Amino acid sequence: MGKIRVEGLKKSYGSNEVLKGIDVQVQEGEVVCLIGPSGSGKSTFLRCINRLEEITGGRVIVDDQDLNDAKTDINKARENIGMVFQHFNLFPHFNVLRNITFAPMELGKMKEEEAHSTALRLLERVGLADKADAFPSQLSGGQKQRVAIARALAMNPDVMLFDEPTSALDPEMVGEVLGVMKDLAREGMTMVIVTHEMGFAREVADRVIFMDGGFIVEQGPPEEVFGNPKHERTISFLEKVL
Ligand code: ADP
Ligand code: MG
Repeated sequence: MGKIRVEGLKKSYGSNEVLKGIDVQVQEGEVVCLIGPSGSGKSTFLRCINRLEEITGGRVIVDDQDLNDAKTDINKARENIGMVFQHFNLFPHFNVLRNITFAPMELGKMKEEEAHSTALRLLERVGLADKADAFPSQLSGGQKQRVAIARALAMNPDVMLFDEPTSALDPEMVGEVLGVMKDLAREGMTMVIVTHEMGFAREVADRVIFMDGGFIVEQGPPEEVFGNPKHERTISFLEKVL
């Protein structure tokens, strides 16, 4: 049974059908990298996996919970699904510690003391133990993104979704963020990652999915998708980005 099961997923914005029937399962502990041209529906797909979008058809099931079923407590389900965005989305008026402790405390998952010790442990893990008191504006892009990852982890999710987490970073900061993600992958986190970092996908992904025009065109182990792509659209995309 897949940790994430997506069946016949469709999503339209008005008359624009952006996802045209996506079927995919992600196993527990699997790392899936999602690649494809701009506008192909990658972000929309990712957003459907925690119901940031209302879907038009099909089903999205995470941990045996149908996210679009009226009986599902979506807030509860979302606690298990961490998300990291391209533009960090930290709370600018909270310091780093409070950014991380806010959700677990607000949602009653942890008392202050536990939330603090969890946050400090997570900051250590992402290499920012000395930044607990800093404000986002005092951090580099790479540091902000590592805080955003720590913040998502504070809810102790068992699925993590990443939407181009390094696309807004200066090149010299990409490595520190990918490094944290590699650690997470090694520790067995189930991850779906939209990325343009083909080297990272090749190294870390268990599976690469190539999307184009609202469909999954091709998927497989990275050595197959990158080394021996079968579909013409995959070949032409990879020629442009590799
Ligand atoms: P990708 O992440 O692969 O670049 P997106 O999922 O962001 O692609 O977008 C796919 C298509 O959906 C694009 O044509 C985009 O214009 C459209 N789209 C995305 N979000 C919205 C929205 N909130 N309202 C209307 N159209 C949208
Ligand atoms: Mg996108």
